[in-house]
Amino acid sequence: MPLDVKALQKLDAEHHLHPFNDNAALAKKGTRILTRGEGCYVWDDQGNKLLDAFAGLWCVNVGYGRTELGDAAKKQMDLLAYYNSFFGCTVEPTIELAAKLAELAPGDINHSFFVNSGSEANDTILRLVRHYWAVQDQPQKNIFIGRVNGYHGTTVAGASLGGMKGMHKQGGLPIPDIAHIDPPFWFEDGGDLSPEEYGLVAARRLERKILELGPDRVAAFIGEPIMGAIGVYIPPMTYWPEIRRICDKYDVLLVADEVICGFGRTGEWFGSQYFGFQPDVMPVAKGITSGYIPLGAAMFSDKVAKVLKEGGELAHGATYSGHPVCTAVALANLKILQEEKVVERARNEIAPYLAAKWAQLGEHALVGEARIAGLMGALELVPEKPKRTFFADRGKVGALCRDIALNNGLILRATNDAMLLSPPLVITREQVDELFEKAWKSLNETAAVLGK
Ligand SMILES: *Cc1c(COP(=O)(O)O)cnc(C)c1O
Repeated sequence: MPLDVKALQKLDAEHHLHPFNDNAALAKKGTRILTRGEGCYVWDDQGNKLLDAFAGLWCVNVGYGRTELGDAAKKQMDLLAYYNSFFGCTVEPTIELAAKLAELAPGDINHSFFVNSGSEANDTILRLVRHYWAVQDQPQKNIFIGRVNGYHGTTVAGASLGGMKGMHKQGGLPIPDIAHIDPPFWFEDGGDLSPEEYGLVAARRLERKILELGPDRVAAFIGEPIMGAIGVYIPPMTYWPEIRRICDKYDVLLVADEVICGFGRTGEWFGSQYFGFQPDVMPVAKGITSGYIPLGAAMFSDKVAKVLKEGGELAHGATYSGHPVCTAVALANLKILQEEKVVERARNEIAPYLAAKWAQLGEHALVGEARIAGLMGALELVPEKPKRTFFADRGKVGALCRDIALNNGLILRATNDAMLLSPPLVITREQVDELFEKAWKSLNETAAVLGK
């Protein structure tokens, strides 16, 4: 039976609050209902086939329709659908996943605390890192430094660690003892400096902030290796090694939020490997299950885990910490990534091809910068190329271009006026060609609406 789209939209408008939406406006317009997915494509309620160049929400790394993941879930549900990791117990897939993550994660990041999302991973990290300093008789060393416009999720801790002004306005955030420094965004902020020079300048904002607050007060610095939600801000290669140096100098833990970058997005397994630095703590989620089921983990280095393990009872946990069905699905997902060499193929075969096509899109009159790292990129739409300036009414042109692309069968996300790219890692060269054609056409049509 075909979907009764109108009836479903009515029910949705009446009963469902949508995240990050103007719900009144959406209710008038009607939601788009997605019905099916295969590889890099999804289908909507009108039967439109859409190339999903955003992998759902940065997460469907192995693509849609991999039945192995459903098989793994069913097998585990039939065997033991639930048991917890409290009371000195746990389950087999959760142990195996913790060990697999230790094998994959960089350096001595060998310990996982399981949660259900990226936001919860960051909540866990805020609590456990403060606890880490407290059990070492430094309870005052509790300030986290994040970045303006950083994104670390939407729970109270996640949204506080993040630096989105619009989110802080709702619910009385940030909570105390969280500070923010300006992000590394050369396009807007770099002036006449080379990106490499600017990377050092941007990183040294952290040193200034640590000295301002006092090194004995600062617990950790948290940042996304590449800032995703704000618009794929790819820092210069000089940025992260300098951040690492500064953290070491002042005995501050470095938290790399790998929720997007983790599991192959940059063509490396983790974003920190792309930039060549070693974190102490690492939240992961999204790509860990390719979005097939919710799961997150807060991961810790040997040094941090040792203190946490020897610091008495850990008064932290969730009913679903290490849920067997979720960890079984994660194992099946990581098996696909490893056995089919999805990450290596993305890095060696797709990333260079995609980068060349992306650079071609960068030649469009509307595009001020085409930035890309692995399979994560952005087209910054500008009013006056080659000036590095923005449209006065920021966000309008991006939304327009996004809607036009959708009409052309291409899903891109827009933040402000940047068109964001994050396709499934299994995208083929032919699909990159299709992406290019549809994006170019959409840029042309956007320019036409603007009278350019
Ligand atoms: C999505 C995201 C989060 C939050 O993860 P959820 O699973 O949505 O709670 C945290 N950090 C980054 C960098 C993200 O992109």
